[in-house]
Amino acid sequence: MKIAIVGYGTAGQASAILLAAQGHEVTVFEKSPSLGPVGAGFLLQPTGLAVLDRMGLGDQALALGQRIDQLQGHTPRGRAVMDMRYADRREGCFGLGMTRGALFELLRGAHADARRVRTGVRITRYDDETHELEDDAGGWHGPFDLVVAADGAHSAVRPHCTGNVRRESLYRWGAVWCLLRIDDWPDPTTLLQRYAGTRAMIGMLPVGTRPGHEGRWVTFYWSLPGDQVDAFDDAGVAAMKAAVHGIWPGISPHLAHLEHADQLNRARYRDVVLRAPHHGRLVVIGDAAHAMSPQLGQGVNMALLDAAALADALAAHATLETALDAYRRQRHAHVRIYQRMSRWLTPLFQSGYTPLGWCRDVAFGPLGRAPGARGAMLSILTGEAGHRRTIPLAESGKPVEGITLDAQSTQGVPP
Ligand SMILES: Cc1cc2nc3c(=O)[nH]c(=O)nc-3n(C[C@H](O)[C@H](O)[C@H](O)COP(=O)(O)OP(=O)(O)OC[C@H]3O[C@@H](n4cnc5c(N)ncnc54)[C@H](O)[C@@H]3O)c2cc1C
Repeated sequence: MKIAIVGYGTAGQASAILLAAQGHEVTVFEKSPSLGPVGAGFLLQPTGLAVLDRMGLGDQALALGQRIDQLQGHTPRGRAVMDMRYADRREGCFGLGMTRGALFELLRGAHADARRVRTGVRITRYDDETHELEDDAGGWHGPFDLVVAADGAHSAVRPHCTGNVRRESLYRWGAVWCLLRIDDWPDPTTLLQRYAGTRAMIGMLPVGTRPGHEGRWVTFYWSLPGDQVDAFDDAGVAAMKAAVHGIWPGISPHLAHLEHADQLNRARYRDVVLRAPHHGRLVVIGDAAHAMSPQLGQGVNMALLDAAALADALAAHATLETALDAYRRQRHAHVRIYQRMSRWLTPLFQSGYTPLGWCRDVAFGPLGRAPGARGAMLSILTGEAGHRRTIPLAESGKPVEGITLDAQSTQGVPP
């Protein structure tokens, strides 16, 4: 097929690699004038790592990133709110902190046609009668047999998934974040968080190496109301540093060099729900299909899982219609669970509702130790809640659809 991919973020990169490997003629459009990563670092879960493994990139990812064994969150007074260990899910289970640059370069290196990505082309419209794409300079591209919209949370193509956009709203809160070089960070295998009520949250996530830079890196993030994210300026940096010092004085020296707002990335979150992620010859994947608050740290995983599921569906089905329907069924439960959990949990960590923070501080510690709740919390953390897997046949490499594994067995089994 002639396939267009709009957007060269994680979802677009992984799709380009997997679909080109199937022999499709793939054209990628990226609005940025040059290719590069956006943002600081992220936590990849076992589910996302399994996709990289399948693409033959797992070992390189491990070498570039930082293994994360646990998540710990405390109040400024030292009360434990979160204390979850991947090993409690199953032996050998872990997450992987990575810089955006490391994943971007890893995927770009695996994409033979990366040099042919059409940069500086902002797609504004998809015509579902001619199956062409229009850009903001009035140019037309196509027609295409399939258009993959991977243009992120603020997608311009998503509205053309006609009749399927059920929810599209902006969260009231967001964050600023950046990479800090800390070679001797004392907790290299732990995602550490501090919560002061619901209005202040700090994260320190070790993310390993950064292309073109020496040393080891940690992602710092600081939660802010959306209007303050939009207005974030140099005075905002000073205010942030003062607030961080009050909550977590130990990390202040690592922030000392931050003086200008442009040293940090800003993030506003969207909540996007589609009834179905496809319409005619258009399929929407990644944040474009299911943007959510990053509270549960699943967006990059989901982008990788979407790309893999789409490639599997196209390989396994004779018609585009049945393939896209199979793709929807494959991803539906997983996406829905995380959309709901993100919507419900985000106000406990980022909102103006202070009493929610009190409840969280009192309840989360005991819940995390209760046998029934602990397993559920761990399955959510690892990205495995609701995840429906397909198993490839060793002989043919073709996926067998509809076989569901117990999510506990995800790691260590070939995806
Ligand atoms: C603060 C923060 C922390 C996060 N932490 C984590 C984490 O720990 N773990 C995790 O898994 N996820 C995390 N996420 C979520 C994750 O970043 C996203 O879910 C993921 O990057 C989505 O990938 P994507 O490819 O769908 O979209 P994007 O990465 O947004 O890529 C979209 C691409 O499309 C391009 N584009 C946009 N519009 C157009 C257009 N009209 N025409 C052409 N090109 C276009 C963009 O330039 C971009 O290159 C976090 C997000 C934030 C904001």
